[in-house]
Formats: sequence, C-alpha cells, structure tokens
Amino acid sequence: MGILSNRISREELRAGDHIYAYRRGHTFSHHGIYVGKDLVIHFTSTNDPINSSSSREPPCEKCGHDPNTKRGVLRTCINCFLKGHRLLRFEYEVSRLHFISKHKGTCSTECCYANEETIRRATEIFNKDKVHGKGFGDYDLLDNNCENFASYCKRGTPVSEQALKAMGIAAASSSTDTQTSSTSKTAMLLSFFSSKSS
Ligand SMILES: [Zn+2]
Repeated sequence: MGILSNRISREELRAGDHIYAYRRGHTFSHHGIYVGKDLVIHFTSTNDPINSSSSREPPCEKCGHDPNTKRGVLRTCINCFLKGHRLLRFEYEVSRLHFISKHKGTCSTECCYANEETIRRATEIFNKDKVHGKGFGDYDLLDNNCENFASYCKRGTPVSEQALKAMGIAAASSSTDTQTSSTSKTAMLLSFFSSKSS
C-alpha cells in the first residue's frame, strides 16, 4: 500500500481510464483521461504565458503537440502527458478503509461512468475547447484544475482531492484567519505548492 500501488504498465491501460502522474517530487499530480490510441485528454493551466523565447521546446514528433503555444484542454500522446514520470491509475469504487489508507487524489469511494461515457465527455470538452477555447473554463489551482477536469469526465462532479488537502494544510497553518477569502486561499495554496517544489 502506498503512493506507488496505483502504478500500471501501458499494457494495462484501458481507454476511459482516469490516469495521473506525479510532478515536483510527489507534491503535485497531473491528471487526465486516457482515450485510446496512445492519446490522453488533459486540462493544463490557461494562465501560463506563451513561450516566445529562443529556448522554445520543439513540438512533439509523435503527436504534434506544441508546448509553447497550446493551453487549456489538450489531446496529446501519453509521453507528452507523463513527461517522463510514472503512469498511475486513479481508482474508483474503493472501500472506505482503502480510501482512508491512501494518499488524497489517488482513489475515490464513488462510482464512475462506463469508460465509453468518460471518453465521450472528455472528447466533447476537448472539441469545444478546440473550436471556442476554454472548453473547461479558466484554469484555477484551487477550484478548476486538471484533477477537477478528470473527475468531471469520470464521475460528473469536478472534485480535486489534492486541492482540498493542500487547502486544509494551508488553512491549518494560518491560525489567525477566521474567514479566509478565496484570493488568500489561492495565495496560500500557491505558496504550499511552491514551497514543496523540487
Ligand atoms: Zn506528444
């Protein structure tokens, strides 16, 4: 049991799976929906600036994704999603005991849609984003992040356990706050993640 027990091989992947990969030394995870044919639909920060410097990364030779220009809901190859990190699968319908023994943001006691419906929902949002932009709205680390997107596709509710967990830690460390504004919560959350970066 532990953070590595959700690890799967690429052969075990099923289209419609909610997958994730840790970033920044296991303090933050990036989530997405595997839609088959080596492709993942995932939500990335719409706030990141477009990179116009000379140190631009070249577009992916496999899927054509250009990391310098495209933001929001992406459909990329799994390599672009993982960025060299381990592949993990989010589990649904786990027991209460299992749930409390695991790290937040790795499993849920809730049931989920069939894989076909999950793919349909993710693809619908991706297509909307492609045509109109902002298919899943503005990215927000606290209220509208990659885990919210994957959760929405998989079970219909946009839950982010890792944001809730980070918020709890941040709120607990701010003993003088009785009524924390959304802005200061976001600031605390950003400071939590940046202080844990490696
Ligand atoms: Zn790629």
